[in-house]
Amino acid sequence: QAPVLTLDGPGGAGKGTLASALACELGWRLLDSGALYRLVGLIALREDLDADNAADCAEAAEAARGLDLVFEPDAGEGQRVLLAGEDVTEVIRSDAISDAASKWAVQSAIRQALLSRQRDFASPPGLIADGRDMGTIVFPDADLKIYVTASAEERASRRHAQLSGSGVDANLERIYREILERDARDASRVVAPLKPAVDAHVIDTTGETVSASLERVRGLVRE
Ligand code: C5P
Repeated sequence: QAPVLTLDGPGGAGKGTLASALACELGWRLLDSGALYRLVGLIALREDLDADNAADCAEAAEAARGLDLVFEPDAGEGQRVLLAGEDVTEVIRSDAISDAASKWAVQSAIRQALLSRQRDFASPPGLIADGRDMGTIVFPDADLKIYVTASAEERASRRHAQLSGSGVDANLERIYREILERDARDASRVVAPLKPAVDAHVIDTTGETVSASLERVRGLVRE
């Protein structure tokens, strides 16, 4: 069985950056599970599916099970996301898709449909699994579980800097409020609420550079 390292935590805590850097260093596969939920959100928006409608929900779950998805390495440490051959890497990062993804992520039929898809990513030489429930639900027997967190203020200012850097006129106060709302929604949802696995190492990246966080994670990997 291939070794699995899970990285869970709230959005903006830095786990995506850590996950891709680690996958690159170790030469392991990388599962960006959030992208799967984002793809379901994208399909649902395109097909005009309503999460509150049972038939639509069944249709979305069917789409989730049959997701024609390819993660393709790009020039840097990241990866391109292809849906039925279409490059949707940027499309699925939009606010509309973030919103749709978190709405569909509370549906247990969707989570169930994505379960075996996610487990299939575990293959030699190893897997870095990035998400919310990697260590708790998808890979409960993972070899190493890390929960990455940071204060809401820090996550908001990182997101703000990221958006400003790409030329978007973003409002820090609004981003901060949205982060608090999403945190509350993620922690209180009935299916797969966001929390560290009991056997996870918790890393708080508040006020820390990416390279310092990465060095701490490397330390855990070496142990
Ligand atoms: O990590 P990312 O922001 O791309 O995730 C998109 C959405 O998918 C999040 O809002 C989160 O609620 C959901 N998600 C999830 N379980 C995962 C990964 C993501 O519920 N393992």
